[in-house]
Amino acid sequence: MFDALSDRLEAAWKKLRGQDKISQSNIQDALREVRRALLEADVNLQVVKDFISEVEAKAQGAEVVTGVRPDQQFIKIVHDELVEVMGEENVPIAEAQEKPTIVLMAGLQGTGKTTATAKLALHLRKLDRSCLLVATDVYRPAAIDQLLTLGKQIDVPVFELGSDADPVEIARQGVERARAEGVNTVIIDTAGRLQIDEDMMAELARIKATVQPHETLLVVDAMTGQEAANLTRTFHEQIGITGAILTKMDGDSRGGAALSVRKISGAPIKFVGVGEKVEALQPFYPDRMASRILGMGDVLTLVEKAQEEFDLADAEKMQEKILSAKFDFTDFLKQLRMLKNMGSLGGFIKMIPGMNKLSDDQLKQGETQLKRCEAMINSMTRQERHDPDLLASSPSRRRRIAAGSGYRESDVTKLVGDFQKMRSLMQQMGQGGFPGMPGMFGG
Ligand code: GDP
Repeated sequence: MFDALSDRLEAAWKKLRGQDKISQSNIQDALREVRRALLEADVNLQVVKDFISEVEAKAQGAEVVTGVRPDQQFIKIVHDELVEVMGEENVPIAEAQEKPTIVLMAGLQGTGKTTATAKLALHLRKLDRSCLLVATDVYRPAAIDQLLTLGKQIDVPVFELGSDADPVEIARQGVERARAEGVNTVIIDTAGRLQIDEDMMAELARIKATVQPHETLLVVDAMTGQEAANLTRTFHEQIGITGAILTKMDGDSRGGAALSVRKISGAPIKFVGVGEKVEALQPFYPDRMASRILGMGDVLTLVEKAQEEFDLADAEKMQEKILSAKFDFTDFLKQLRMLKNMGSLGGFIKMIPGMNKLSDDQLKQGETQLKRCEAMINSMTRQERHDPDLLASSPSRRRRIAAGSGYRESDVTKLVGDFQKMRSLMQQMGQGGFPGMPGMFGG
């Protein structure tokens, strides 16, 4: 759903990739791309501005982490900031100490408010919270029928007084009914209009003042983009919301609404609607959404793992070795094992920006290749590991290793050849950081 956004951001990472650390000048391009990406994703302008300046400040103050490239570090900063803007963690629906918990649903017509009311009831019922739905949209007779039908479908009772009654009175009596029957949560569906309208707001305010809900949830259609910001502001200023449900996230929405809603109201997005069916409701996880917006797999995990795995001193020693041509098979094996410790190669590679497009076949191949390297290195003597040239000049040594590891002599020859090529390449480039192993993944 965030394809265009993630493409933009990927372009930004690429610009940073060749740099050795984050500086004020080298992040300007990346920041501009992030800014453009967010604007194109319909994130509210002010939200974008605040976001960019936060990211800039954090990026400039960031310490250099050994083994983590600046683009990866920058991604993590952008990611963390996205998570922060969208709220720290999934926030459940409040539960009042005294029954019933009262939930008021608000939003424009057609956003999926009535559907969300039923979805929420189904969700709560699965948590063993009994529900009563209340139909207060008396302006569209079909709205009451719609709620009745949905209620039947999920086996949750619906309270209604027909279309002649006063919505405020329906809400009040609905809550009373729930209280009398010991229902856990009463969810009040309200009337929407196609646009924000004073009568609608006034009625909502009256219902709210009368029933004093524990939750007032704004239902926002994710497809509304920029408008989501104004909508949130108006509802929040006039009614006051405690959370939001972002619907139609299954469509190709740009996702900008997710960022704007939280930033503007301070209220968390509690759920996302991902389809027309009553089951199509998911809790909102800001971190997942941020990764998804960035479109780069679980970059965060990558950076954190890299920080854990890379013992600083070790990494520096390794870097020195690589540069001074002392890098041998023992060091290589160490790096292979480190890669293995970081989980499957497939999982690892997919976390690297830009690499998430490798096919599963390619990844499998790489993983097999790593195992093969390890088996062959294990069959080498200490002396051979230390001095790869010994192997280059001795077919009998290579044959012995092939027999010991269960591979062909040609595999050992290739490993030794690739290793030597890699070593000279590394020396030429003089690059440390993440272990790059040209030739080793290619098969
Ligand atoms: P209301 O006027 O706000 O009460 O909106 P409705 O609940 O009647 O929904 C309007 C339309 O959007 C209906 O056709 C729903 O099936 C559809 N809809 C609601 N939520 C979602 C969603 O999460 N995904 C998709 N694809 N459609 C949805």
